[in-house]
Amino acid sequence: MVLDRLRSKGGLCLFDLDSTLLDNRPRQALILREFGEQFGEPGLAQVEPRHFEGWSLVVAMRNAGLPEARALALEPEARAFWHDRFFTSDYCRHDVPIQGAVEFVHSVAEAATVVYLTGRHSEMGPGTVDCLSSSGFPIPTDERVRLLLKPEQSLHDDLWKEQACAVVRALGPVSAAFDNEPAHINRYRERFPEALCVHLDTDHSGRPIPLAPGIPSVPNFLLT
Ligand SMILES: [Mg+2]
Repeated sequence: MVLDRLRSKGGLCLFDLDSTLLDNRPRQALILREFGEQFGEPGLAQVEPRHFEGWSLVVAMRNAGLPEARALALEPEARAFWHDRFFTSDYCRHDVPIQGAVEFVHSVAEAATVVYLTGRHSEMGPGTVDCLSSSGFPIPTDERVRLLLKPEQSLHDDLWKEQACAVVRALGPVSAAFDNEPAHINRYRERFPEALCVHLDTDHSGRPIPLAPGIPSVPNFLLT
């Protein structure tokens, strides 16, 4: 449906990265294993991507076999360790594609302009491009494939994505958009009423924001 529309209309297709095109769980698992090594918790050597359900480190540690009390005791130090690494260029290289995403973005690129519109800040650019390249995604090299990064890490993602709407509008008409955050895909639907907006039902920041009525929600890109 989306591809038919893009083939007839062209324009821009917006893709969020984290939890939309890319699965961050390998990045999270690596960080938690390294935390275990540095803080003397051998039980964390077993942490795998599948142990992550959302963003709780306590849940991941418990799923990897740690007792609840131990996971709770480690959580503050683990969270600080995670925070220092998760939002970095080096660690984001470990992300892997969501199912069907690579093939889908290539199909889109044949018909429309691909815009990776992400809350990652500009210092994460090199690792992001490396990850897109090694995963097989179209890489942002010219005006047909663009990467829009948040100018400053301190800028709230919501504010950045609002600002980015004006940047995107200057590039051309938006025909479709994909994002896992209800707040963001709802905003795109408001700002670009002509676009087909699709929600990725992977995970999100946990805020109790409902998806606007009529926005389709898909678990991956196998059915788009
Ligand atoms: Mg996201």
